[in-house]
Amino acid sequence: MKIGFIGLGNMGAPMAANLALRHDVTGFDPVARPADLTLADSAADAARHADVVITMLPDGKVLQAVAAQIHPAMQQGAVHLDCSTVDVDSARAVAAQAQARGLLAVDAPVSGGTVGAANGTLTFMAGGPRAAFDQVQPLFAIMGQKAVHCGAAGNGQAAKICNNMILGVTMIATCEAFALADKLGLDRQAMFDVVSTSSGASWSINSYCPAPGIGPVSPADNDYKPGFAAELMLKDLRLSQTAAVAADADTPLGAAATALYADFVETEDGAGRDFSAMLPRFASRQRP
Ligand code: NAD
Repeated sequence: MKIGFIGLGNMGAPMAANLALRHDVTGFDPVARPADLTLADSAADAARHADVVITMLPDGKVLQAVAAQIHPAMQQGAVHLDCSTVDVDSARAVAAQAQARGLLAVDAPVSGGTVGAANGTLTFMAGGPRAAFDQVQPLFAIMGQKAVHCGAAGNGQAAKICNNMILGVTMIATCEAFALADKLGLDRQAMFDVVSTSSGASWSINSYCPAPGIGPVSPADNDYKPGFAAELMLKDLRLSQTAAVAADADTPLGAAATALYADFVETEDGAGRDFSAMLPRFASRQRP
């Protein structure tokens, strides 16, 4: 397959490198110039003649700007596969523009982070026509271990932000419970042994335990170096709240998690730390 890959940052560069082992990949990024990839001089040049154009960009505004450059250059029937995490409205607008030009569009944000991108073990949650999803399935199989078709355009982004809203809320709940347990004199190992096998269990404690030295190895064991950075969690929580406002959905815990991560990243010491560093934050605080 002939692939254009636009946005060669922390995620895009390793994803493109994995695809280039099996397909003809031409990349573009205004800043990053990975040495192991054939590069074009513009996004439009990378998109011309491609069967599939993949974008991996910071946000919906950049996605819309790049889509306006690449869609006119793409050949009829080609697929625009956007793997960025963006707002649902931008994903749906870009899909509608693609369709109007005779292109196919799939929004397929990922989970798995930079390690998953490097190892080809990402999970994709995809929205868009089933036929387009099937067409890019072989690429999902190279870049990832699982791809779920979630329905129409924008539904991939919807699935991603709903999942990450649950993750943000359960991580905060787990961290505040550990901090309460500390103050009640409960040993962290005992707390883990009980909760991880009881009704308080979740991925946040069982697979990504925020307490150092307890449970499986996680960023807590590496001084809370990300991992999944608190600012990326804040980005996804904000997207969940933008979507909740637009859809008139009541999400009080999502809103509280967004406010806590905003304080943590923007007025405390959370920037550059893993999102599980909420545990030392709560452990060092008193009741307001
Ligand atoms: P990044 O900032 O490292 O990479 C983004 C790249 O886009 C940069 O290299 C930048 O130069 C490029 N870019 C910006 N404007 C451009 C333009 N007009 N044309 C072409 N390229 C342009 O970000 P990242 O960590 O690679 O994340 C990419 C996306 O994946 C984001 O939407 C992010 O939320 C999502 N994501 C990231 C992670 C993670 O762990 N890093 C995990 C899951 C999802």
